[in-house]
Amino acid sequence: MSKGLLIVVSGPSGTGKGTVCSELLSQAQDLAYSISATTRQPRAGEVDGKNYYFMDKADFEKKIAEGGFLEYANVYGNYYGTPLGKIEERLAEGVDILLEIDTQGAINVMEKCPDGLFIFLVPPSLAELERRIRGRGSETEESLQKRMGSARKEIEDGKKYGYVVVNDTVKNAVQRIMAIRTAEHCRMDKNQEIFEELAK
Ligand code: 5GP
Repeated sequence: MSKGLLIVVSGPSGTGKGTVCSELLSQAQDLAYSISATTRQPRAGEVDGKNYYFMDKADFEKKIAEGGFLEYANVYGNYYGTPLGKIEERLAEGVDILLEIDTQGAINVMEKCPDGLFIFLVPPSLAELERRIRGRGSETEESLQKRMGSARKEIEDGKKYGYVVVNDTVKNAVQRIMAIRTAEHCRMDKNQEIFEELAK
């Protein structure tokens, strides 16, 4: 059995990562989602253990000290991290795992898991990004400017990713990610076993 893929998706806030990832998960039922831990407050409708594991700062820092995270980062003043949990075990079983994390965390994962699939999701333009963030209606002018500033910095980090996917429409973005996933599974270096079997 070939090893599962660690699929890491990042992108500036407002690009639509959340929507693209949920659509991806509903279309690819064999894809497992890694639920992150965070110290931020739950938003309306968010469920503990489904959207995130909501933790307080002391527990989060305890888990950091215990080496319980594959990666963690401080984003907009709160901790976010990927619990190590059963990630390695599941990858060894051949399960593909999706991580939706920020660029700081993803860059740490690139060092630890160079075999991962690193996908940077971008809006069609900065003007469109601003329009989408405003459309959410949840940001003050100050936080909008803060997010636009972070977006520029994150786009700079995006150069380190192996793939870039434009989220012009959710349907297109999902199709592109599915295509990348399939192509990655077909790589020669990921299919040594079948070749050895054929060469017997
Ligand atoms: P939000 O608070 O809007 O759910 O997420 C804020 C940011 O934190 C997003 O960019 C999201 O990708 C990132 N994030 C969510 N979970 C993790 C995680 O486990 N690790 C890291 N490094 N970033 C995360």
